[in-house]
Amino acid sequence: MSIADNIALVEEEIAAACRRAGRPRADVRLMAVSKTHPPEWIVEAFANGVRLFGENRVQEYAGKRVALAAAAGLFTGPEPAKIHCIGPLQSNKAVRAVQIFDVIDTVDSLRLAERLEQAAAEAGKCLPMSIEIKLSPEASKHGFIPDTAELNQLLERLPDLHHLDAQGFMMVPPFVDDIERVRPYFHQLLLLRDSIARRYPRLALNELSMGMSHDFPVAIEEGATLVRIGTAIFGARPSK
Ligand SMILES: *Cc1c(COP(=O)(O)O)cnc(C)c1O
Repeated sequence: MSIADNIALVEEEIAAACRRAGRPRADVRLMAVSKTHPPEWIVEAFANGVRLFGENRVQEYAGKRVALAAAAGLFTGPEPAKIHCIGPLQSNKAVRAVQIFDVIDTVDSLRLAERLEQAAAEAGKCLPMSIEIKLSPEASKHGFIPDTAELNQLLERLPDLHHLDAQGFMMVPPFVDDIERVRPYFHQLLLLRDSIARRYPRLALNELSMGMSHDFPVAIEEGATLVRIGTAIFGARPSK
């Protein structure tokens, strides 16, 4: 199967999930998660219509970016590629991250938000970002825990962070084979977004980035606006 074939299949599944959920296809954006894969594969996915990409390491992406910048039209055409940071980001890498990424989806502490604000101000840009939420107890998961003082502090602080454009929420549920058992996590993120929208009407936190290769149809049924697909597009990642 080629990257083009895989994208076509994923597109079909996204469209089918939207139909089941009674949602317009345009409600859901596709992100190809290209971490660990060579820049040529990003160019190939771009040629097949993908415009959003997810990378999880500052260092790795900084290297690929050089090759990508040389690829015709990727960042300069009418509809350029946007690269999201979807991995945990240390505060001390905020400056570099703001230079190379278009969007940071993994703001998981107030401290990181403040650092990104400062870095974006210095770079003279307004940085689109999402708040990562942790709904499962595993230590490997990052993010704000709902209804904590730190999350409330961030939400109260956001209107004053003028160089951050907060778009919504991102979440990684536990990995389980039976995707019906993941559905409640997706639903919980939807409810959290809606309750925060009622409490903070000045914020427009609409994005729900949730759903990966094995569970994205369920995530779409539960309201995902962005699905992050790696394996189903590029195949298995090299093991570490
Ligand atoms: C790697 C990764 C993905 C993609 O996972 P697949 O199962 O390969 O689709 C999505 N989101 C995050 C945060 C990731 O780190």
